[in-house]
Amino acid sequence: MPTERKMKLVIKCKNCNELYRIKKSVPDRAELRNLIGDSVQFVCPKCSHKEISSINDVKAKESSVIAIAAFLIMVFGTGLIGYLLKDYLFRPNNPYNILAIGGLLLIPSIIFMILNKQERDNVRRFNQYRIN
Ligand SMILES: [Zn+2]
Repeated sequence: MPTERKMKLVIKCKNCNELYRIKKSVPDRAELRNLIGDSVQFVCPKCSHKEISSINDVKAKESSVIAIAAFLIMVFGTGLIGYLLKDYLFRPNNPYNILAIGGLLLIPSIIFMILNKQERDNVRRFNQYRIN
């Protein structure tokens, strides 16, 4: 799944608490170690402190890009389904209008929730898994 690779990886500068972004796309900590080894070296963009941290200090965060993408899917999905079904829905005397509108909102909402849940699960899995 492409969403697996979008979460944000950050590490905190011990000198000033600035979060430094690690630009790697990995699904979990083991993969990150395969890429960069047991420790993370970086120069803090804020205080220029040179930091060497354990890979276990890397934290995953939910990417806002996913949330925005999921939200857009929800909005446009609803609009698109509404447009495609416009000949069937919204007729003045259709007793199923309420049901139809409910269903219309339901499908994109489910997609939205699935995307968000995947992202949360990925973040949790990354953060829970420690390398000894
Ligand atoms: Zn710093």
